[in-house]
Parts: sequence; C-alpha cells; structure tokens
Amino acid sequence: MNNRLYGNLIFELSQPGRRGYSLPKNRFGEQYEVPSGLCREQEPELPECDEMTVVRHYTNLSANNFGVDNGFYPLGSCTMKYNPKINEEVAALPQFAGLHPLQPAETTRGAEAVCTLLCRSLCQLTGLHAFTLKPFAGAHGELTGLMVIKKYHESRNDQQRRLVIVPDSAHGTNPASAAVCGMDIIEVKSLADGTVDVDALKELLAAHGPQIAAMMMTNPNTLGLFERQIPVIEKLVHGVGGLMYYDGANLNPMLGACRPGDMGFDVMHINLHKTFSTPHGGGGPGAGPVGVRKGLEEFFPTVSPFHGNFAVVMRAYAYILSLGREHIKEVGPLATLNANYIKESLKDVYELPIDGLCKHEFVFDGLKDKSTGVTTMDVAKRLLDYGYHAPTIYFPLLFHESLMIEPTENESKETIDGFIAVMRQIAEEARTTPDEVKSAPHTTPIGRVDDVLAAKHPVVTYRQLRTDD
Ligand SMILES: *Cc1c(COP(=O)(O)O)cnc(C)c1O
Repeated sequence: MNNRLYGNLIFELSQPGRRGYSLPKNRFGEQYEVPSGLCREQEPELPECDEMTVVRHYTNLSANNFGVDNGFYPLGSCTMKYNPKINEEVAALPQFAGLHPLQPAETTRGAEAVCTLLCRSLCQLTGLHAFTLKPFAGAHGELTGLMVIKKYHESRNDQQRRLVIVPDSAHGTNPASAAVCGMDIIEVKSLADGTVDVDALKELLAAHGPQIAAMMMTNPNTLGLFERQIPVIEKLVHGVGGLMYYDGANLNPMLGACRPGDMGFDVMHINLHKTFSTPHGGGGPGAGPVGVRKGLEEFFPTVSPFHGNFAVVMRAYAYILSLGREHIKEVGPLATLNANYIKESLKDVYELPIDGLCKHEFVFDGLKDKSTGVTTMDVAKRLLDYGYHAPTIYFPLLFHESLMIEPTENESKETIDGFIAVMRQIAEEARTTPDEVKSAPHTTPIGRVDDVLAAKHPVVTYRQLRTDD
C-alpha cells in the first residue's frame, strides 16, 4: 500500500494545469471547442492530475475494499454467497450486455429464452407454478408478492383482508413491505427454541381470522432454524382464508432438499443476488423474482419496466446450469454442514442461546464469558485485524449481543478451520488482553469509528472535510 497516497482525495492530489489527456485535432486541423453558448459560466471544480496519479489513486483505493475475493465473508442473512467468475463473463457477453430494452423483439429472442428458462428452473426448484423476474430486490419482491395477495383477495370481493402476520424473528423488510402495500402488520411471537409459537398464532387467527390477508414466513428463519410446524401453520392460515408467503431470500440451504410449493406456500420471492450469485455490495444490483401457485399468476402487477435486472438473471441462470440438476442438490447440505461445524467448534467459548441443529446460519449471543466486558462489536472489529469480514452483528434483535454467522456452501475446510481458530484466539484475548480487543481494529487503514457521531453528524462532502481542518 502506498501510504503517501493513501488517505488523500483525488482533489487533494490536484495540481493546477496538470493534464492526463490530450484531445486530437478535428478534421479542419483545429482544436475541438465546445460552443460558448453551451459552456458553463464558471469552470467546474475538477481535479487536475496526471495519468499515473489517477491510476494509482484508484488502484490503492480498490485495495482497501474487502470482498469475497480477498477473504472469508461469514456475514449472516444478507450473505455475499458464491460468485463464480464464469457468471461475470456470461453476464458481460456483449450479445447480452449490449441489448437495448426497446430494440425489436425479434432481435432479443435469446434474452427472452434465458428469462423463460430461468423461470422454468425456479418453478422446478420451488414447486411453484409461475415466476416474474421483474422485482429489483428482495424487498421489492415482497411488495410484489403482497400486491398479488391483495389483488387475489380483492378479486374475490374480500376487501376486509388487510392484516399480515409476521413472526418477531422476521427480516425488517417483511413488515416494511406489508406497510408499503397498505396493509397492517401483526406480530406473532417465537418460542424459546426460536420457531413460531403456534398457540400464539392460533389466538391471533381466532381474533382476526376474516381480516387475515397472509402470513409471511422465512424458512429457515433468520435464526437459521427450520420451521418444523409449517404443515400445521399452513393449515391454520389457509383455514381462515389467508395465503402463505415464503421469504426465500436465502434459499441455498433448501436447494435440492425441499420446496416451498410442496409445503403449501402460495407466493414467494427469491433473492437471486444471494442464492444464485451476483456480487451485491453497497445495496445493489439485485433481483427478487416472485413465484406463485397456479391461478395467482394473473395477479402479477407491473412493478418495473421490461424484464427487471437482466444481468442478475443471466448470472443466476449460468449458476444453475453450471451446477446442474445433480449438483444443485449438494448446495443445501454443504451450507448446513459448514454452519453446524463452526457452531459446534465454538459453542464452548461463545454463547449459543438456541442449541441444536441449524441450517445455513446460526446466532451466538456474544462471548460466553460476559465478565470481560468484550462485546460483539469488539469481536467483529477484532476479526478485521485478522483479515476476516465481520459476521452480521446485533441482528436478529431477539438477543442483545447477536453475532450471526453464515459460512456458505463453497468454503474449504481449511478456510473454515482458520476462521474457527481466529474466533477462539479472540475469545482468549478477551480474557487476557481485553483492551486489545476493545480498541480494535489496529491494522486497517481506518481505526474504530464513532458510530453515534457518524450517525448523528455525518460529514459526507469534501467541502465540509476541508472546512473542518
Ligand atoms: C436480504 C433479505 C431480504 C431483503 O432483500 P433485499 O434484496 O436486500 O431487499 C428479505 N428477507 C431476508 C430473510 C433477507 O435475508
């Protein structure tokens, strides 16, 4: 890392008059000139740098990024899962990447075939009847699916069904999507074992039956647990006339093992960017296809123009094809094996609030030894010093010190053993040198930031940075 350059903004490297380009002359042998009527009144404030300064500046910045290509990334729930390089190449093929959505339909048959074939694969993997690829994200898929449910009830003249049941362990997007869809949310509690409390659900259904539009479930839920009572829950909810919604954002532990359609779900979404590759840091890009059982496809709303996020669709289809019908069945068991291996190897030093078999992810409630004062935040920051991305922390909200770990299906035993060793090392440090952990990270370009200050007084512009010093 070039420390002289690191930390500078490109504007700070600027030298008045320095150029990194030269424009050719036009065909009359003159310099190109922008007609004066089209020019700004004032020169834009642009950095003036030579070529190598620009190249080094951005190359050094990119080296500060942490991604799945740098190291292990055990972020639970919203995981950056497996992103094979071949999928990037397929998505970038100019014959697909260069398509314009408005070009004549007879010239886009190949792209349409990819969409149709992906939908067919998703139907086979989920046991549902039809999919739309239009939603741009998981949350967008939830909204789309709830709009289907709303229209379905309206089509039967059942206008009073405006309540959506959401378990307290659900991802925050579930209640948010229901609210955006104009529905009201009622929460159903979890049992001490982390799964839905069926008795509490029965009470809700008894009290609100004719108003229930749907119940949303995540399975495995956000604690990484398989909801074993689904057959009972499905009958209860259908019994009062509600529909069952499946949040399939993280479908990888289910692939080849079981299908939401067979469990009685009516509507679901899948996050292609989590389950079927596509790097999605910083909030995009994504795709949240929605699947429905037979008879509901006529209620698909128009939620985006054209075919949604087509490059994500390309990656997902390439991923499914490269695994094939046989190997896709290994995804779920391997994701589950890896998660359980880490859980069992660490549960003597980290607090495991819900014991037993997990699926693709699980949650610790901080360190087992609470006397050290070392928090989940400290552990997460210390992991950065050892070259690991932090797990998801302080989510789900069911525990105070949640540390949610998801290794994914594609990591080697050596990688996972390395992570386990470092987690044990940090637990040991918490006992012997706790201040070292509490003040971490020590080796990253930026140390511990003040979260509260950053949230309350964010300094997000260059100009402000300058006036502050
Ligand atoms: C990530 C996630 C979502 C939301 O997906 P986005 O693409 O981020 O909108 C919904 N539910 C669960 C369980 C998730 O993990």
